[in-house]
Amino acid sequence: MNIRSTRLPDGRYFLSYDFLEPDWSFVTGSNPSIEDSPRVGQDRSSELRWNPVLGEWVVTAVHRQDRTFLPSVGQCPFCRSTEEGGEIPGDYDVAVLANRFPSLQPNPGTPSIEESSLYPVRPSQGVCEVVLYSADHQRTLAQLPVEQIYKLVLVWTSRYSQLSHLEFVKYVFIFENKGEAIGVTLHHPHGQIYAYPFCPPRISTELMQSKFHRDKTGSCLFCDILQHEMQDGRRIVFVNKSFVVFVPFYARWPYEVHITSRRHIQSIADLDAAEQRHLAAALKALLEAYDGLFGISFPYMMVMHQKPTDRESYDYYHFHIEFYPPMRSAEKLKYLAGSETGAGMFINDSLPESKAGELRAKVRPVILPSAWEN
Ligand SMILES: [Zn+2]
Ligand SMILES: [Zn+2]
Ligand SMILES: [Zn+2]
Repeated sequence: MNIRSTRLPDGRYFLSYDFLEPDWSFVTGSNPSIEDSPRVGQDRSSELRWNPVLGEWVVTAVHRQDRTFLPSVGQCPFCRSTEEGGEIPGDYDVAVLANRFPSLQPNPGTPSIEESSLYPVRPSQGVCEVVLYSADHQRTLAQLPVEQIYKLVLVWTSRYSQLSHLEFVKYVFIFENKGEAIGVTLHHPHGQIYAYPFCPPRISTELMQSKFHRDKTGSCLFCDILQHEMQDGRRIVFVNKSFVVFVPFYARWPYEVHITSRRHIQSIADLDAAEQRHLAAALKALLEAYDGLFGISFPYMMVMHQKPTDRESYDYYHFHIEFYPPMRSAEKLKYLAGSETGAGMFINDSLPESKAGELRAKVRPVILPSAWEN
């Protein structure tokens, strides 16, 4: 994999990855200096505000109001621009660029408001990147060849590693919002990466529970879950050599699925070469099964859960990816209403065992390139 780093006219970095050499996992080229990034938006217009009631941060980002909203194909900012001054400078295979409307940035402005002992305030420092899965505007991740998804796994790994080296970054969050149903404003196949200056609350809860389980039983919570699910079988969607794909026992969304590595590892950077390919194959098979359910391009949130990057030890944690599709049926959406939003109490009006069965019936074998020996 070769990384070509350039700057867009407004100073943001643009990374183009090519895979012309036979060994894709051998990385050449160089990453940009993120610390040099120009500030986006006005000074005194964004900050992190502490919520002392829940003990968590919320970010204000006024400049995101002007975001591009569902442009037509000819005006897609992620397609190669034919006009002078367009966002994408040239052809690409997989690309990463600094988000044009970041909620967190390497050189944030001064907060808009003064802090107090009751209300701590911090500059909204972090990194927000966009990952372009393909130059083809029309194709979704599910429709990309498995080789292309493998390239994406390599790019995710590279970004996780580079961002984790930044002093102010404590957590690298890789995710995708897909579909208008969950508020996506651009159709071009893309995901995002947020590098937070703290460990976000949901991950902190998982870390706390995993630590508690390890201290109590001596084993990894996720390894125990995998063992239980493999023995039980009712919630398994499919397995491959390196990953188990299943609807969790405690699913909050009807079609929630987790992809968990069979080996006890803590981040995407711990995957070996075979596991990287098996992850690409698992993603491809799951996304095709999702699309096959109702014959629609299935909307979802995809989030990667892995260890924080604050250099502490998290050997009790375990790498996995979670999918939350907002669909209840072909026509019905699940909304986050009073109980979910106000009490944090999810009501799933379906049984995980039957939803796993529906998905299992849609899984088709992924044809792997002949060069991938297993
Ligand atoms: Zn496009
Ligand atoms: Zn484990
Ligand atoms: Zn998780």
